[in-house]
Amino acid sequence: MNFKTSREEALKILENYVDQDISNYTAQRNFDFGPQSRKNISCLSPYITHRLISEYEVTKKVLSKHPFQKVDKFIQEIFWRVYWKGWLELRPKVWTDFVEDLKNIENSNEYEKAIKGETNIDCFNDWVKELKENNYLHNHTRMWFASIWIFTLKLPWQKGAEFFLRELYDGDAASNTLSWRWVAGIQTKGKNYIAQNWNINKFTNNRYKDLKLNENPQPIIDQREYKISPINIDNNENKSDILVFFENELAFQSFNIDSYKKIYCILLTNEERQVELGDKVLEYKKRLIKNQLKNADLKIEFIEGNKFIGLSNNEKDFDVIYPSVGENMSFLKRIIKKNNLIINYLIRNEDKYCWQFSNKGYFNFKSNIPKILSKFKLN
Ligand SMILES: Cc1cc2nc3c(=O)[nH]c(=O)nc-3n(C[C@H](O)[C@H](O)[C@H](O)COP(=O)(O)OP(=O)(O)OC[C@H]3O[C@@H](n4cnc5c(N)ncnc54)[C@H](O)[C@@H]3O)c2cc1C
Repeated sequence: MNFKTSREEALKILENYVDQDISNYTAQRNFDFGPQSRKNISCLSPYITHRLISEYEVTKKVLSKHPFQKVDKFIQEIFWRVYWKGWLELRPKVWTDFVEDLKNIENSNEYEKAIKGETNIDCFNDWVKELKENNYLHNHTRMWFASIWIFTLKLPWQKGAEFFLRELYDGDAASNTLSWRWVAGIQTKGKNYIAQNWNINKFTNNRYKDLKLNENPQPIIDQREYKISPINIDNNENKSDILVFFENELAFQSFNIDSYKKIYCILLTNEERQVELGDKVLEYKKRLIKNQLKNADLKIEFIEGNKFIGLSNNEKDFDVIYPSVGENMSFLKRIIKKNNLIINYLIRNEDKYCWQFSNKGYFNFKSNIPKILSKFKLN
């Protein structure tokens, strides 16, 4: 697989997918035919995760070419991502608890074997290799992988989520953490996802048979309850003369940037992260940023977190494109506290509007999709 690194290329991939392949999505999307054969899904996630193209832009493009009824499954999957992001925004402690949990888990021999692909489960070993080579796995495979990790290999879900974040080009705090919780049976309490031999056999086109899996596991129990905390970002006006954005919100062109004297794009190094990323993932992010800034105004500077800490010893007011709950937001919160910063967040109207519907389950969220489409004229 060959993931691209510029917005122009990402838009071309979207255009081709919408013109040529999307009509097979509903019937074919659950099959993992292997990394050389991915036309049955869009493979857009690395671009969407970095907001090189947004979920709303993708939706608009799809609906400009196809009636909703023909592509509803695809649109629903796009909105799963929006739903997960909103869900985590409303319960940010789920992220900070995940990070804290990781600090208290030791790396066992079984874990070391799993991440090297040295278990006695062939498909799992292949997927570890595939993940490290392509920095991507098919959605169904991610579900099987997580289920085998938790219930057959009996490893902590948090370490699996950490491993995915380290290796995936599309690694995302919300989609990843909440999907792992969902497989474990914590997200929808008592309902775990069980990887089964027949299902892997069928949806890998008979590539894997006779797997010895734990097909009768109990869900993981986690007693922690998370109350909803409202999102308190009222304002969307430019206030400071310095704008800051992170690598997971790269389409800065969607915001009004003309009035800023200086703009910084931050990519955190591993020393500045709580969950470290693999070298390939950090390199991919660097290339995305460099391509995004190539044609942009010279006043945009690419910096690491450390430089921002230095800047904020003198400057105290910043406008920041809202980075959403996750690594970047946790970093920012640490610096806000340390250096007494005043931050004015710029948030997309679409995000703010959609996230309010993440207060319950996806079924409820989904019922609001027609309202979202018409409010933002996406259909
Ligand atoms: C354990 C586990 C971990 C995951 N971790 C991540 C992650 O870190 N980052 C991430 O972007 N996705 C994650 N996903 C969701 C999903 O697997 C990927 O978004 C999808 O495989 C990306 O491939 P695609 O672009 O071809 O998807 P397509 O099937 O073509 O879907 C189009 C887009 O819809 C969104 N989408 C599709 N399925 C889902 C889903 N189940 N949940 C959320 N959004 C979805 C993605 O933005 C995707 O690009 C995870 C799923 C599981 C089960």
